[in-house]
Amino acid sequence: MTPSIDFRGQIAADLELFRDFEALCAFGGRLAGTSSEAQAMDYVATRGSEATGIKCRSLPVPYTGWRSLHAELTLPDGTKARCHPLVRSVPTPEGGLSAEVVDLGRGTPEEFEAHRADIAGRIVLVRHELMFVAGTIHRRRKYDLARAAGAVGFLIAGSVPSGLVAGSSGRGEGDPGIPAAGISPETAARLGRTAAGWPRMTLRIDTIEKPAETRTLLFDMPGETDEWVVLSAHVDGHDINESAMDNASGVATALSVARALAPLVAGWRRSIRLAFFSVEEWALTGSARYVASLSEAERAKIAVNVNLDSVAGSSRLTALTSGFSGLEPFLLSVAEAVGQDLRCVRPLLTNSDHANFALARIPAFRLVAGYDDPASHLRFVLTPGDTRDKVAKAELTSAAQLAASITAAACRVEAVEVRGWRL
Ligand SMILES: [Zn+2]
Repeated sequence: MTPSIDFRGQIAADLELFRDFEALCAFGGRLAGTSSEAQAMDYVATRGSEATGIKCRSLPVPYTGWRSLHAELTLPDGTKARCHPLVRSVPTPEGGLSAEVVDLGRGTPEEFEAHRADIAGRIVLVRHELMFVAGTIHRRRKYDLARAAGAVGFLIAGSVPSGLVAGSSGRGEGDPGIPAAGISPETAARLGRTAAGWPRMTLRIDTIEKPAETRTLLFDMPGETDEWVVLSAHVDGHDINESAMDNASGVATALSVARALAPLVAGWRRSIRLAFFSVEEWALTGSARYVASLSEAERAKIAVNVNLDSVAGSSRLTALTSGFSGLEPFLLSVAEAVGQDLRCVRPLLTNSDHANFALARIPAFRLVAGYDDPASHLRFVLTPGDTRDKVAKAELTSAAQLAASITAAACRVEAVEVRGWRL
């Protein structure tokens, strides 16, 4: 399983890896539908062709475009505070939504249950939590609990001092939804319950929605057969930061892996499909449409999806193996052979594009940095702190070396082992 050609040495010497990372950060947060995203997609299309020597195949991805025009809170004492509407939040009624705020702390299911009688007709306030730890309660789950209990609005407070928090509301197509926004911890502190009762505030969110289209970018690097290893990363992000860890890191890493493996893949059994998705922050829409477009026969020919999302910001790498326990010994054997640490975390976490492959029963995992490490820079993901200074060159190099070793081994491994991944 040890690579016979020194692509790992090539990655160690790859100066373009960090240049691509910085260039993607420099486009801004790459929120889908903005010029920042469009410029980044053009850049990745060009860089992908240069990395692989293959012309880019571009699949159109229609989606419901959304943009926030204005957002603010008016606090109980009449002062204004900033807020950041969650992606695809519905607007508030003309003049704003005035209601009392129920602070549910972290927003666990137990807190929702205990306060069930308090929630209807009020705005629910919960806390954003570290995403990359076991037991995390996803923002979408809290939003769904708030809606189910009759809340008229949803606020989520960040943990970074004076920082707002971004994210998707998870609202689906045709879903009426409730207005939802991220706020700073200081604003949340001013919305606590007092002896006089729940505080009253006004939330104002103006948005527009209209049909939009982005792309999935594919580069097919042929091996000896039409069995595939799909190496993916999402390009889009949020507009309150540079979306540096999430996910300029994964895109730059995927490009570096492609550069290193492009000269080798023709001699391997399986082919590599390099895939760049957008609207990942739109409830994983880009990859969902791609996987839905594949026939059963095409799905059967994908050996594995290697999804790179937030692979730097910490030197510790974890594979989220989406329930595919049979894949774990393979991943660990590759990591051991090249002397890199890797941990496997098995539950299916629907927090990136690998989930759509896994849900279609295609073996899939997400490589992520800083999992179960609350002190790592990954705590800044979705906050204004997700900027390029949180990422060290050595972290990108290490992620690219491990991703390349896994991808190369997956291209060459015996068919009988690959069959075991699907069990
Ligand atoms: Zn991501």
